Parts: sequence; C-alpha cells; structure tokens
Amino acid sequence: MNGHNRHEKIEIQELPTFYRFPFIKVNVIDDVEQIDFLLSGHFTVEDMTGECGLDSLIGEARWRVAVEASAPAKFQYGISIHEFFQPQQAEKLAGKLQGKGYEPKIQTFGYQWQLGEDRRFKNSSYRVFLDGFPTIREARRIQRHLVDFYQPTIYKYRAREARGVIEMFDVNYNQSIKCSGPIKLTPRERNSVISLLNILGRSDVMEFPDLYNIQFRINDIGKLQCVAEMDIEAYVGGLLTVQYQENYPDSYLETLAITMRSWVAANWGRLHKGEAYQFCSTDHCYYLSGLGTQPRRVLDIVKETKGFVLTCEGEICNTPSHLVCGGHTEKLENISDSDPKSYLKAFFDRAGYEPPPEVPVRLDNEEAIEIWINSKPDVHCNFSRKKDVENFQKFRQYFRWEIEYARHELEEIISKKTEEEIGTLYDIIPLKRGKSGRLLEVEILGSRQNVKLVGDQAVREAFAEERLPSSCFIIRTEMDEHGIPTAFVFFGAGNGDGIGMCQLGAISKAFSGQPAMEI
Ligand SMILES: [Zn+2]
Ligand SMILES: [Zn+2]
Repeated sequence: MNGHNRHEKIEIQELPTFYRFPFIKVNVIDDVEQIDFLLSGHFTVEDMTGECGLDSLIGEARWRVAVEASAPAKFQYGISIHEFFQPQQAEKLAGKLQGKGYEPKIQTFGYQWQLGEDRRFKNSSYRVFLDGFPTIREARRIQRHLVDFYQPTIYKYRAREARGVIEMFDVNYNQSIKCSGPIKLTPRERNSVISLLNILGRSDVMEFPDLYNIQFRINDIGKLQCVAEMDIEAYVGGLLTVQYQENYPDSYLETLAITMRSWVAANWGRLHKGEAYQFCSTDHCYYLSGLGTQPRRVLDIVKETKGFVLTCEGEICNTPSHLVCGGHTEKLENISDSDPKSYLKAFFDRAGYEPPPEVPVRLDNEEAIEIWINSKPDVHCNFSRKKDVENFQKFRQYFRWEIEYARHELEEIISKKTEEEIGTLYDIIPLKRGKSGRLLEVEILGSRQNVKLVGDQAVREAFAEERLPSSCFIIRTEMDEHGIPTAFVFFGAGNGDGIGMCQLGAISKAFSGQPAMEI
C-alpha cells in the first residue's frame, strides 16, 4: 500500500460552486496518430503556458496535428471501497478501515450549483479508497479481504502523466508550431467553426461551431486526444442529435432533453475522475456527433427546455438511462460502489405490472432468472409484443440476446481482461444477483486457479472483447464425452446497466401517447 503515515488526518476538499451550469469538456477523439481539421473564421492558438503559439488564424484553411514524440503515462491501481453522499459517513468508514490497519483516503467529487439565493444543489460524493497498488493482481488480493465493506471495486489511475511533443501545421506548411504539452485553439468571433475530418471509424465530419475552445493533448498511451469545451445546452443538443429519429414524438424528445441535462449536471466531474475532460463520446457516457448538424427540431426542443433539470432531495437528479432494461431495471447501489438514491430503484418496466404466474417476482436467484430470460414479459421495452411499431423492430434484438464462445476463445478473453491465468475453463458460477437478475459476483473456475469477479462492470468486461450487453445472463455449458466444456453460450436480457430510465421503454410509452412529465 502507500507509504503515508497511518494516522494521517483524512481530508475532505471544498467543493467548487458554480452560479450557473459549468462548462463541459468532452473527449471527442482519442487514440489517434494525427487529426486533420478545417478552420473557418478567426482563432488563436497557444499552449498552456502561453509561451508557444500562433497569434491569429483568419480565413479558411486545412490543418493537421500530429504527435512528434511521446512517452506513455505510468499507472497504478486503487480500490474504491465506497462512495458516500454524506462526508460524515465517509469519515466513519475511513476510521473503521484505519482501525483494521489500512490506510484509506477520501476524495470529493462533483460540484455545487447555485441558482438565486436559496436554491443550492449539492451534487457531490465522497469516495473512500486505498491506492498505490502496482498491479491489478495486487489490488485484487487486497479487494478480497474487503468484501465485508460494501462492494469494493478496482480502478486504474495515473501515477505519472504521459509526455510528448505535438506539432500543428497547415496543409502547405506555411505556418507551424511545436509544443510540449496541449495545444489550445480558441475562436475569436462568433460563427467560427472547426471541423474535424477523417476520424477513424467515422465517415462523417464533426463540425463544431460556437465552442469555447478545443484542445489537442497527448493521451495516456502517448497518442493524440481531442477535447472540446462547450456550453451545456450545446452538449445536450449534440447528445440529442445522436438519439434523434424523425418519427419520435415531441414528448419523448422533451423527456430526453431534460433527463440528459440533469444527467450531465449531476455527473459533472464524477465519471472521468482525474481526466482532462468530464465526458467521453463513447457509450461509456453517451455518443456525441458534431454540433454543426443538429436538426431544427432538436435545436427547438433544447431551447424550449433550456435550463430545465429534475431535482430531488436538494440535488439535481442523476438521471442515467440505458438502452433497454430487459424488463426490469436495477437499483443504483447494486451496480455502482455508491450509496442508494431513492429515485434509482429496481422495478418492472411497466407501472403496476404483475408478471404471469409462471414468471417469478424476485429475479435474484438462479431458478427465477432462467425462467425470466426465457420469457417474453409484456413490459414497455419488449418490442416483439408491439407489432404496430414497425420502425422499432431492430430494437427487438436488445431485449433478449445470445452469444456463444468456444471454450478456448473464452479462456483467451478472460485471461486478457482479468490478467489472470486460469488454465482450462471449467465453469462460471453465479454468486450474487441484483433485483433485476444482473450478476454482481461470479466465480470463474479454472484448472490453474479460480477468480472471483465483483461488480456489474467487471462481470460484463471479463466475458467479451468489449463488454457483454448486460450482466443479466445465464450460461449454458456444452461438454464433450469426458465432461470437459467445449463451448459456453450466454443468454441475456437487456442492454446497459439497468439504472434509471429504460430508453426503449420510454419511447414505447411516448408512442402510446404519454406526455413528457409522466414518462
Ligand atoms: Zn465516459
Ligand atoms: Zn425496459
């Protein structure tokens, strides 16, 4: 563990207070060697010290940024034991851990938003953690002793920043600069636009009008990362554009705009701890398109709902959503290492739904979950029951899914993702399920060793190149004549962690005529 004095006082930082919504920094491109872009309008270019820069770029031109030389960051591992919403509780747990000989720390995340004299929303949390583990295995060894304390999860953090030199030059090489560290471009007049081109894996151009600024940085593996800084309404519009379909009713789009804005405000500074941005543009947060191509209707909906957020219990509601719950949502404390929230509970995706007699009410045991996954409950997000909604037939595949691996294929994935050599994979044993049947703990039985995984994310990531659609699954093992497994078939329900709003359920409700506030 770390080398600090065991009885060092545990400190809690002050929260930043904003008198309106804070700016939003989004990681829009990551892990590339170079980025080509067009500038139109008037920009200044500088590094963080202000020593290196180009005075003023006016007009239209094509540019490129590239990494000239770099050294990757160095990492260590930490164990997040629990995240509290009350500082006193964090201090209490830290004290208890100190008593057992650990050296816990507390870190504060989030911010305080003040609107007027008496409206103060405190969206903060206090994480109790241990850090300083050189390898993930070392962290997992200690994690095993901590399972009595909440649901400890392992995270990775930077022990040393990446370093490097970034060069930016125009296509004719008339102008160029080299900086050791991030390069920042700031528009100097309205209607200045930066368009990112030829983005890996995306055929389109990402167009950004009205940004506060855009930064090119060296990321952890020594490649380029592009972070765009914008206003919250612009970001919400960008998120909505990705989700937008012409035939969506207004009530659903309004619901989406308000819940997205609430989610953004509540999660500011909490999802990418220790990064140069607050949100990424992958499905970890939400996909983001450029901001220059927002449909008229999206702009109108964002404008009409401007500044609206959902509040409850003195804070802005963290209103996460997921693509499809699979029939039953999950409660927050089961999926994350955080305290419960009264509005993030587990329930069937239909108010007043009573499952037919053959479907169990409690889904947290093996017998029940098998029946549940093989059933087609008549809940909102089950589009296979709704023949009238032609456009959404593609959504059927997410409600129930199936993925098959040959044994050796799955062994390779497991050893890559867990960094443990398990040898021959004999079985995967479910140990603990949440209310929706999502797996919170599993044990992998191997010929060389058994590995226990804790947490929805760890379970989803261990059994897929990226991650499984959800942790609500059962496994059928196929064996040869000697009883050795040859294949593993995963049968699952839902896509996403099941926390908060089920998007397909909400779309289905909007189509049946429910107004935004009811959804
Ligand atoms: Zn993210
Ligand atoms: Zn649902």
